[in-house]
Amino acid sequence: MPQLIAGNWKMHGLTTDAVALARGVAAGAAGLASELLLCPPFVHIAAVAQAVLGTSVLVGGQDCHPAKQGAHTGDISAPMLRDAGASWVILGHSERRQNHGETDELVREKVLAAVAAGLTPIVCVGETSDQRASGEETEVVGWQLAGSLPKPFSGVVAYEPVWAIGTGKTATEQDVAVMHAFIREELERQFGTEGETIPLLYGGSVRPANAGSLLALPHVGGALVGGASLKVDEFLAIARAATV
Ligand code: PEP
Repeated sequence: MPQLIAGNWKMHGLTTDAVALARGVAAGAAGLASELLLCPPFVHIAAVAQAVLGTSVLVGGQDCHPAKQGAHTGDISAPMLRDAGASWVILGHSERRQNHGETDELVREKVLAAVAAGLTPIVCVGETSDQRASGEETEVVGWQLAGSLPKPFSGVVAYEPVWAIGTGKTATEQDVAVMHAFIREELERQFGTEGETIPLLYGGSVRPANAGSLLALPHVGGALVGGASLKVDEFLAIARAATV
């Protein structure tokens, strides 16, 4: 299975920036061993989907509402994402959990809505620096997995230690290896054989310089990339570091 390199553009860029970035990535995507996914802000999804049409580059959203439609001012539903050209969606990102008070239960409802709309969810889990300092990291991630993933689960899990996101502090190879082994074990415990094949990504200050060693670790099936996904060269360099 090819590794997945997903770019989370967060709240960056106007339409012209988004289209230029998408075109740049698409131009470099041919022949790569990895799969590339771009997750622009909602308003740019249609333009980005159009810009990568006919290439292997995938498009996703950064969040969705659990309801299909309704009185939810400012929210976007999973069918709307699909309609705009997305086939994936990031859910439960730590910035959503922190800034919008998203709980595991809400994330699980969003996963169900995403799958029902034909989107593949990437569900983010990860501990804060305080939780790691007090030795609770595996317990926290275990609870997040149990609470955020519906059974059965059809999607991808991204381990993103909160303290490594946007900070330039990458988790050590040892941290990532230990946590990914724990997540795999936990998924097998919670989901049985289905848990053996759920793809796992690492996210948190992935850069061209550290991508090769992180992507070579056991159970790491790709990367969720924030800052470095906003630069065509850096994102493609990370993608080139991926293994099959
Ligand atoms: C992210 O926001 O998912 C992320 C991993 O960001 P960064 O790569 O900038 O740490």
